[in-house]
Amino acid sequence: MDACSGVDIELDKVQAKFTAIRQSSIPGIDEVLQVLEAMKSDLQRNAALVESEEMGTATLSSEQKLSLKLAATKAKDTASKVSQQHRDVHPAISRLGKVIDRVFTQDFNVINCPESLEGPDKTSKVVEAIMEHLYRQGLLEVAHRLAEEAHVQVKAEKSLPFLEMNSVLQSLADKNVQPALQWAEKHRKQLEERHSHLEYKLHKLQFLELLKQCPENTRALLEYSRKFQNFRSTEQIKDIQKLMGCLLFLNYGIDRSPYRDLVNQDLWMDVGETFTKDACALMGLSMESPLTVCLKIGCKAIPVLLNLKTMMVQQHVGEIWTSSKTELPIEIDVSPEHLYHSRFTCPILRQQSTEKNPPMRLNCGHVISKEALARLAISTKSSKVKCPYCPSEQIPSDAKRLFL
Ligand SMILES: [Zn+2]
Repeated sequence: MDACSGVDIELDKVQAKFTAIRQSSIPGIDEVLQVLEAMKSDLQRNAALVESEEMGTATLSSEQKLSLKLAATKAKDTASKVSQQHRDVHPAISRLGKVIDRVFTQDFNVINCPESLEGPDKTSKVVEAIMEHLYRQGLLEVAHRLAEEAHVQVKAEKSLPFLEMNSVLQSLADKNVQPALQWAEKHRKQLEERHSHLEYKLHKLQFLELLKQCPENTRALLEYSRKFQNFRSTEQIKDIQKLMGCLLFLNYGIDRSPYRDLVNQDLWMDVGETFTKDACALMGLSMESPLTVCLKIGCKAIPVLLNLKTMMVQQHVGEIWTSSKTELPIEIDVSPEHLYHSRFTCPILRQQSTEKNPPMRLNCGHVISKEALARLAISTKSSKVKCPYCPSEQIPSDAKRLFL
């Protein structure tokens, strides 16, 4: 992000220069154009006069000659002024280019690990990930062409759920809840198992749209409100009470009522997200495309790996990718939404827990790793170990393994 903001500052400077040029040169150019246009019509008038009076060849009066000369000088001056201003932008543009080169253009080959993507199995996995991403975007034709050209066999039915999902999302973008409602009704049982609020949210949206579009149609609103009787969670009941409260302000105007926040919320976007989340969950897929996740994490990891490589070159130490090429050589700090597993780091040994070295809960409630507990047991003279954090003592075998 620092890199982007650095480029942003330089880009702003270039844009400011261009705006300044535009503002200062346009009036000058307009003025020259006006003078030239006036001269042109004057000359045309003169030529027409000469023709009609058959005065032979037209000659310029000394006054016209002078104005022509003045206009030419003015045009020349303006052109050289504009070109000077244009030259002044060049240093700013070249500075912008240098900043981009410095912060973005890196030699990624030094951290490349081509082996991790080699082999027919891995290639087809990459193709599948790209195809899934394209399906999610609704680009089915592109996905099929990719499969064809990469010689990857993909079952046609794999794209069907995405097709349905995209058409529902498109309808939601067009402010039409019906296809989404039909989908939610069709999958009601599975959605209930997931404790999803999708169907309720869709009815709420439809009710509020009705309220906004035809507030005078109380009958239609009351009839639609009957749909809410199937939703009975505490949260939903509270929300429904508010929706019903809106009905009292139909004549007064919802925008001026205490319930105005209900209609002003960006519910369409929220419903779109809920639908995508539920639809992906029912298909057994993550809400975000794996390719997008890879890209986001890659953007975080590449600068760290490049720094590491630079340090390794300076220290004359070996290759960045050690024997295990399926794992990153160092831990990369990613944002919390990309942490998929709970982790435990032993406070004594400062190591992350593994299957062989799991976290162990002592009787006092403190947690240390199995290896740390074993070391404590060896170092103690009695049969009991003392917790490193509190005075409590216990027999090592009483510690319980924790599963995170
Ligand atoms: Zn303790």
